[in-house]
Amino acid sequence: MNTTEVKAYGSESPEADLKPLKIDRREITPTDVEIDILYCGVCHSDLHFAKNDWGMTQYPVVPGHEIVGKVTKIGQNVDNYKIGDLVAVGCLVDSCRTCNNCKNDLEQYCPEWVGTYGGFDKHLQTNTHGGYSETIVVDKDFVLKVPENLDLAGIAPVLCAGITTWSPLRHWNVGKDSKVAVVGLGGLGHMAIKLAHALGAHVTLFSRSTNKIEDAKSLGADQVVISTDDAQMQSVAGAFDVIIDTVPYVHDLNPYIGTLNTNGTLVVVGYLGPLDPMLVTVPMIMGRKSVAGSLIGGIAETQELLDFCGKHNITSDVEVINIQEINTAYERMLKSDVKYRFVIDMKSIKN
Ligand SMILES: [Zn+2]
Ligand SMILES: [Zn+2]
Repeated sequence: MNTTEVKAYGSESPEADLKPLKIDRREITPTDVEIDILYCGVCHSDLHFAKNDWGMTQYPVVPGHEIVGKVTKIGQNVDNYKIGDLVAVGCLVDSCRTCNNCKNDLEQYCPEWVGTYGGFDKHLQTNTHGGYSETIVVDKDFVLKVPENLDLAGIAPVLCAGITTWSPLRHWNVGKDSKVAVVGLGGLGHMAIKLAHALGAHVTLFSRSTNKIEDAKSLGADQVVISTDDAQMQSVAGAFDVIIDTVPYVHDLNPYIGTLNTNGTLVVVGYLGPLDPMLVTVPMIMGRKSVAGSLIGGIAETQELLDFCGKHNITSDVEVINIQEINTAYERMLKSDVKYRFVIDMKSIKN
């Protein structure tokens, strides 16, 4: 298969900084869309993958799965996009399309889903490479439409941070009378607040410090509960239908279980690994409470979210950087020093 060499940024070993690389993009197949990348969000997964924190990285790795761009070429069987359309690509670029998950618009749970980076490109028989690059070629069924009224840099994080919180809000039927709490105010948490608020829910942020109260309220939170303050935690005992827990490291879930209503669910979206301390089951049994997990969202659900963002004028709060600043951005992310997501202006890769 013919390929085109394009500029990218990536890393060649766990210890190495990201640097300019050249990668091959496939020639479009009849069902492919070629996209000139305008913006790419910077997700915590990018950093973990570049550093091989999950032990599955094959090098070189080109991260980036919050991609917004413009269609520059379409295959002959592409009828849903035309050249010049504003489009987006999230965390998935393919799946088996025949399993029950695929048939039910849950491609993210397909055993054969192909990640936007670090997946397996069946056409080129190589690793897939993500959005820290000039262009990407993606099957039309995994390309999303971007509403024309939104800030393009701000829409990029919707593709991962946004959908990761939207999918559980929708699955657990959050709406007008819902009481939702969010744990953690980072890239995921700030989107969870905005989206739950726009769905009409009463929204609470759990925070360990008082210095996030104003920010949380300006994002749409109705109240902030300081999770280290026993009296404040007691005041919300049994209060919440759904808690979206976005904290990316191991932490104690037990204090939050007590704040769930009967039949309430705490959904873990930010942390992969064993719980420590372990869950105490008594408060779960006394109230039929659940602890659940959730992974990004399917393609149809991601499109639903983009359309919802267009209608309600929602974007992520971002700090736009040039690709040459990516290593510093990673260092700052590790210190939670960003409000609330870095987004790369991909014009800078041409420099
Ligand atoms: Zn991500
Ligand atoms: Zn499948």
